[in-house]
Amino acid sequence: MPLTSEPDIRRVVSDETTQLIKLSENPLLVLVVEDDPLVRERLAALVTSAGFIAHTAHSAAQAIYAFSEEFFSIVIMDRMLGDVDGIQLSQQIRDLPLPGYVYMIVLTAMDSSEQIVAGLNAGADDYVSKRVTDGELIARLRAASRIVTLEQALRDTIADRSRAAATDVLTGGHNRRYFAKHMARELKRAQRFQSTLSLLLLDIDHFKQVNDRHGHAAGDEILKQFSNRIRYSLPRDYDWSARLGGEEFVVVLPQTDLAGARVVAERLRKAVEETPFQISQAELSITVSVGMSALTTLDADIEPSAQALLDQADHYLYRSKIAGRNRVSCPPGRND
Ligand code: GH3
Ligand code: MG
Ligand code: MG
Ligand code: MG
Repeated sequence: MPLTSEPDIRRVVSDETTQLIKLSENPLLVLVVEDDPLVRERLAALVTSAGFIAHTAHSAAQAIYAFSEEFFSIVIMDRMLGDVDGIQLSQQIRDLPLPGYVYMIVLTAMDSSEQIVAGLNAGADDYVSKRVTDGELIARLRAASRIVTLEQALRDTIADRSRAAATDVLTGGHNRRYFAKHMARELKRAQRFQSTLSLLLLDIDHFKQVNDRHGHAAGDEILKQFSNRIRYSLPRDYDWSARLGGEEFVVVLPQTDLAGARVVAERLRKAVEETPFQISQAELSITVSVGMSALTTLDADIEPSAQALLDQADHYLYRSKIAGRNRVSCPPGRND
C-alpha cells in the first residue's frame, strides 16, 4: 500500500498485517516524523498494530523535542519534512547525547536506486520507498527491533561487566579499579567547584597474625565484616570506600577538609576497635591504623592526583604504624 495521502490510505490496517508481528513483551517506542497528517496517522496506526508504541511528530523540531522527553529506539521519518531534509534530521538525532542507538528508517518518494544508495550512505539505517507495502514496512520494523534489542543487550552486558570489573569479589565493595576511575572524577569535580577533598588510607593491624592463628577463611571473613563496618560508618551519600588490596582500604571524602576528615577517621578507627569481630565461635579484637591526606595539604609544587593523595596518606599510615598502631595520623593543616 503506497504511503501517499491519496484517499485510500485511510483504510484501516488489515488484520492480516497485524498478525504479521507478535506483541513483544516490552514494546519499543517508535517515533513517526511526518508532516502530512494523513500519512502520519496511518503510519502511527501501522506501527501500533505491529506491537510498538507509536509517538508522532510533525516536524524535525518537534522530533528533537520529543527526544528530550523520551528515548525512541526507532524513528521512521519522512525524507521531505517541510524545509528540513529527513537526512539532516537523522544527523541531528545522531548528535544528541542519547542512552542508546537509534535505528532510523527514512521514507521517501525519491526512490530510485541511486537515491536510496545516497540516503543509506548519508547515515540512515534503512531507506524505504513510500510505495512500500504494510507487510514490508512491518518486516523492516521487526528487523530494526532485532538490531535495537541486540544493541541494548550488548550495552547491558558491557555495563554489567564494567560493574563486575569494579567490584571487589571478596567484600562486594568497590575495588582498586573503581577507585582509579572515580578518583579521577572526584578530582575534576573538586577542581571545578574549587572544593577540597580528603582521603583516608586504612590498614588492619597485625593482620598476618589473624591468618596465622585462625586460618585464611577467618581472615577473609574479617575482611568482609571490616568492609561493611567502613561502609556503615559513612552515612553521607557522597563519601565512599574501596578495597585497594589485601587488608588495605581507602575512604574518599569529597568536600571535606582535614578537620572533618579527622572526625571520620576517628569514628572508623573506633568502630573497628570497640566491637570485636565474630568468626565462627570466636570473637576477635581487631584494630586499624589510618593515614590521611587532603588536597589542601599536598605540597604546592605537586600536581593534585590520586597517586599524590595516596602517597601522602601512605606516609602518614606508616607513621601510625611506627607510633604503635590503632591510631590516626594526618599531615599538618595549612592553618595548623
Ligand atoms: P601491620 O600491622 O604492619 O599492617 O601488619 P600486617 O600483618 O597487617 O601486615 P602485612 O602487610 O605484613 O601482612 C598483611 C597480611 O594480610 C598478609 C596476608 O596474610 C593478609 N592478607 C592479605 N590479603 C588477604 C586476603 O585477601 N585474605 C586474607 N585472609 N588475608 C589476606
Ligand atoms: Mg513530507
Ligand atoms: Mg598492609
Ligand atoms: Mg596490616
